[in-house]
Amino acid sequence: MRIVSKFGGSSLADANQIRKVCDIIVSNTDRKLIVVSAPGKRFRDDIKVTDLLISLANTHLQGIDASYEFKAVINRFKSIAADLKLDDEIIDEISKDIFSKYNADSSNRGKYMDAIKASGEDNCAKIVAKYLNTIGYDAEYINPGSAGLVLSDEFGNASVLPESYDNLSRLNDNPSIKIFPGFFGYSIHGDIVTLPRGGSDVTGSILAAAVSADIYENFTDVDSVFSVNPNLVKNPAPINDLTYKEMRELSYAGFSVFHEEALTPVYYKGIPVHIKNTNNPEAKGTKIHKDITIEGRNPVTGIAGDKGFSSIYIRKYLMNREIGFTRKVLQILEEESIPYEHIPSGIDDISIILRKKFLTADTERKIVKRIKKLGTDEVYVTHNQALVMIVGEGCLDTTETFAKASRAFADNNILVKMVNQGSSTVSIMFGMDERYYEEAIVALYKAFYA
Ligand code: ASP
Repeated sequence: MRIVSKFGGSSLADANQIRKVCDIIVSNTDRKLIVVSAPGKRFRDDIKVTDLLISLANTHLQGIDASYEFKAVINRFKSIAADLKLDDEIIDEISKDIFSKYNADSSNRGKYMDAIKASGEDNCAKIVAKYLNTIGYDAEYINPGSAGLVLSDEFGNASVLPESYDNLSRLNDNPSIKIFPGFFGYSIHGDIVTLPRGGSDVTGSILAAAVSADIYENFTDVDSVFSVNPNLVKNPAPINDLTYKEMRELSYAGFSVFHEEALTPVYYKGIPVHIKNTNNPEAKGTKIHKDITIEGRNPVTGIAGDKGFSSIYIRKYLMNREIGFTRKVLQILEEESIPYEHIPSGIDDISIILRKKFLTADTERKIVKRIKKLGTDEVYVTHNQALVMIVGEGCLDTTETFAKASRAFADNNILVKMVNQGSSTVSIMFGMDERYYEEAIVALYKAFYA
């Protein structure tokens, strides 16, 4: 059995957490490839090491002396290493590493920022490997560059290059416990480049795919993924099993369990993902699979939603007969670089639903003007829209799902303006005014879980 385990920032926030992580690692000899984040928050108002590093780099880039920020970073690592009773050598090594990055040439701002940002994960990996050595285990820090994790040349927003998979598959030949820092790799020019924020999940997923892992474990600080946002519903039902497709749709509509792209490498290889709690490793957790048996399962796996949508309504008499009309509208959006989310359509009408953040007042005016020139009868934009979704493999195979949802909306006086059923095989989407958002989610939860 081959396991790749990734531990998030809260699992590595201090020495105590790192001890828990190491207990978990050594409790199963199949855990041989470990990905670590940078130390995260120890308490609610604490600052993650990555954020400390970003402010260190930003302060320096503004031409201001950043010794205060530098000390804050070093002190975080120092206290972890001291509490783990590691020798001074590692602290020296970490201080020198961050100091040399801090003093490096900063003429390329992106390059400078990424080298500093990456040092959170990099030095955390060194500490974890060292601690495992001191408690008697054969563990080693792996440098992503030497291992061959090659990323695109986009500072702060890199993505994996295909050759990485072959390179990284060689990690299978190494029998020790390998501690691999998440969040960054190297460009073909040899520069440190980081993935988008939260990117250690992506590193774990890339490694799992590269070594053909049997399972990708993702350790965080919750017992499981919940079927609905726990800020809206108290003690919601846990989700123990779900499919990639369900997870993708739930993440789309507000579930912030995974970095958006994190599942892609494991998805293509069909590797199951197991989300587990470092603080309660006995808990069942949540498993994400390729396929699932739907018999005996609640047809609704989760309820999610998001606010901040806008809708462009377009009406044109005999629109259905005009070949190419939608293409012309979409071309306008493309030319204005506006991504859209959904296009529900009628006979003579279409609505284009997009995220408000992509639509400035200026682009809105421009787009409406251009669409009107296509000979339309009516064009207007509505803001402050919410999308609420029911997600579940098999939720469309029963007559009950839609009936229950409509009843829940009617009983709570929630006016639904748009329904999208059938476009996705695992979800039904409802569009409504933002003011109904919270109520709608709670009403749906009660309808399907009470
Ligand atoms: N430490 C990085 C961040 O805070 C990456 C990660 O934790 O996944 O975004």
